This record gives sequence, C-alpha cells and structure tokens, in this order.
Amino acid sequence: MYHLPIRFGMLLPMRFGRIATPEGMTFAVIDDEGTVAKAIAGTPYTEPEYTGKEYKLEDVRLLAPTLPSKIVAVGRNYADHVAEVFKESAEHLPPTIFIKPPTAVVGPGAPIRIPDFATGVEFEGELAVVIGVPCKNVKAKDWKSVVRGVTIINDVSSRDLQFSDGQWARAKGIDTFAPLGPWIETDLDKFDFSDLPIKAHLTHDGTTETKQDSNSKQMIMNIGEMIEWVTQSFTLLPGDVMATGSPAGTAEMVPGDFIEVEIPGIGRLGNPVARA
Ligand code: MG
Repeated sequence: MYHLPIRFGMLLPMRFGRIATPEGMTFAVIDDEGTVAKAIAGTPYTEPEYTGKEYKLEDVRLLAPTLPSKIVAVGRNYADHVAEVFKESAEHLPPTIFIKPPTAVVGPGAPIRIPDFATGVEFEGELAVVIGVPCKNVKAKDWKSVVRGVTIINDVSSRDLQFSDGQWARAKGIDTFAPLGPWIETDLDKFDFSDLPIKAHLTHDGTTETKQDSNSKQMIMNIGEMIEWVTQSFTLLPGDVMATGSPAGTAEMVPGDFIEVEIPGIGRLGNPVARA
C-alpha cells in the first residue's frame, strides 16, 4: 500500500483546465467567471507554477482537463438507471466496475463520433472524480486525500453492443465515447456529494429536452465506498478518472444532435454528435 496522505491543503482551491493555444497545449488555472486561463508549467497534480501566459478562454480551445492512464467506471450505481436499462432491481444486480481506455477521451465541444456498427448509442451524464496522487487500498473515509477534484464525464455507451458483446469494453470504449470536462473543480468542500443534481439536455432537430434530471442521492455506493472498492484492485494514478455512474433518463443520440451534461458547481459539458 502506498497511499500518500496528501490533501493539497496548502493550495488554494482552484479550477484547472487544459487548453490548446497557438503556442501549443498547456494546463491552466481558469478564473471563477470561466473567462480567463492562466497557463501553468506541469500538471494540476503538483504545486501550480504560473508561466506568465494568460489567455481569454474565447481565444483558445478547452481540451479534456486530464489525460488519464485509465478511466475506471462504476456501472449500475443508480437504482433508477438499473431498473431502466437492465429491467432488474439493484438488489439483484449490484454495481460493477469497467474500464474506458484513455483513447476514448475528448474535450468539451469535440464531436462524439458514432461508427456504423455501434447502434443504440446513448449518453450517460456522470460526476467524474479526478485522482491527485498514486493510491491503492484507500479507505472510504480518506477519499478526499487522494482526489484532486471533480469534473463531468459523458459515459457514452452503445446499448446494443453492451448487451450483444457481454463485455462492455467496445460498447463504452470506442474513440470519442468519453467526453470529459469542462474543467476540474478542486474545492471539494463546496459540494454536498450526497445531494448533487445531475442533468443532461439533448438537442434533437432544434428542440432541447432535459432527459436526465436526477441527484447523487440516488447513488447506491457513495464516492468514498467506490474509491475503496476500486483501489482494492487497481492502483490509481494522478489524472486517472473514476466515473461514478449514471442516473436514469439515458436516451439515444444520433448524428446531428447536441448533448450537454450539467452539474451545478462544475458547469456544463456539451458535445455535438457526428458520424465516424
Ligand atoms: Mg455509466
């Protein structure tokens, strides 16, 4: 076990993003208004060192805020979603763990590209936890000591492949099936993770409908319990992402649609849907 009890307590709460600038890609601290990005040297997982370069967000492109070695995702973690997708009670079908590859990650605004063989492709709006230190065998009560912050993930899933393949690797691991962002909020204490709204808005044919409108209250395992469970098996590394499960309301997206996931205190993650 090499869980490092670093709390990042010395650092002021911040919002970290990753941006594409004319000079290249860099991590950056984003201001509270979400309008200015101050470039930092290195990553959000160390003491930030400003390079002195500053950009208006409207002049640069936001990228996925982390480059994870893996996304460890907990499936079937909301009772309402288990009933909707699996036609089973959560009691008979407990949470499960799967992995999405880092090559599935795209940033805010980047298209979700659906290949022809992936049918029944649905969005899953989820709270994502970003790891800050290498950790293994973390106790539930210590979860904040290994977490750098939170962001949003859309756990895009081909429902047809999920059931026909059995394994979920392809259904949920196709390139672009892991939109992530818009940034990492590090002030964990500002959130009530036992009562956090999660919404997903789907725009189809010019009409926007709120399809997911739920709350982390519906979670079967809480964040600490999930981190304890996941780190019994996997060493998590700085930048790794743990997806905490989708509530009910997932629905099919087709090329031409726009999907936006919203979590108060973090923001909105929006992506267009296109054909691969
Ligand atoms: Mg999911």
